[in-house]
Amino acid sequence: MFDRIAQSVTYQKLSLDAPVTVTVKRLDQIHPQISGNKFFKLKYNFQQARQQGFKKVLTFGGAYSNHIAATAYAAHLFGFASVGIIRGEELKDKALNPTLATAQQSGMQLHFISRQQYREKTSSEFLEQLQQSYPEHYIIPEGGTNSLAIQGCKEILTAEDRHNYDVICCAVGTGGTITGLIEASAAHQTVLGFSALKGDFLKSDVEQWTTKKNWKITDAYCCGGYAKTSSELLQFMQCFEAEHHIPLEQVYTAKMTYGLMDLIAQNHFPAGSRILVIHTGGLQGRHPDADLS
Ligand SMILES: *Cc1c(COP(=O)(O)O)cnc(C)c1O
Repeated sequence: MFDRIAQSVTYQKLSLDAPVTVTVKRLDQIHPQISGNKFFKLKYNFQQARQQGFKKVLTFGGAYSNHIAATAYAAHLFGFASVGIIRGEELKDKALNPTLATAQQSGMQLHFISRQQYREKTSSEFLEQLQQSYPEHYIIPEGGTNSLAIQGCKEILTAEDRHNYDVICCAVGTGGTITGLIEASAAHQTVLGFSALKGDFLKSDVEQWTTKKNWKITDAYCCGGYAKTSSELLQFMQCFEAEHHIPLEQVYTAKMTYGLMDLIAQNHFPAGSRILVIHTGGLQGRHPDADLS
């Protein structure tokens, strides 16, 4: 069923005044709601949930989590009920942002918990309690990253992608997507991740999933942290969209693209490098100030 959604993915080569080539793989076009990498991350999880007889799914996320919106929509589409455990009790009485509104419209029940409680989300005690409270729910971890998600993300790269490019770039949140790309990459390729978060903990997270070494993650373009922006970033987004007609969003893909353009300007890549950029979607969460109109 998921495979029916994944229509043919298009490639768009940017016209740049640079000694390298940049091609964007438009996973954002897969589907308006289950866009980009989330489609690949969810695919085998929903398959497993169905095979195990579940009719409900539960997952976690922050208020800007594209994973929450995508899971809600996928659940709706495939006939599952869904619950989203959302970080931040204070959000309970506030108007929902576009991402959470999208999730609720898809029928997801949103449960807000305190940041302190949320921090326990990986502790076995918390998870046991949760499974007791929701015995009929298939639990998908925060950001959707587990071994089934990584298995799905390996399918982002085709044999042609392995052959035609030297560098593969993606935005990084929990590290599931980049791990799939690393696992699927060819030995001659480098996978370069642009972190949406501050800190280098992601390196050790990814090292838990892969033993390959042909990758790097930088947080130099995270703009101070997750979901933080700057006027410079929003301005870059507008210019990029106007020039290349590719929409970005400010949490992940704008930071990646901004970082990549900066590295190209610094001659970071050898001349002739063929760079493939994975556009991971997430466009329902676009910042209103970044609209072109
Ligand atoms: C979730 C998301 C990511 C990060 O994926 P991870 O597997 O969590 O690293 C990147 N880009 C977009 C648009 C996303 O929604």
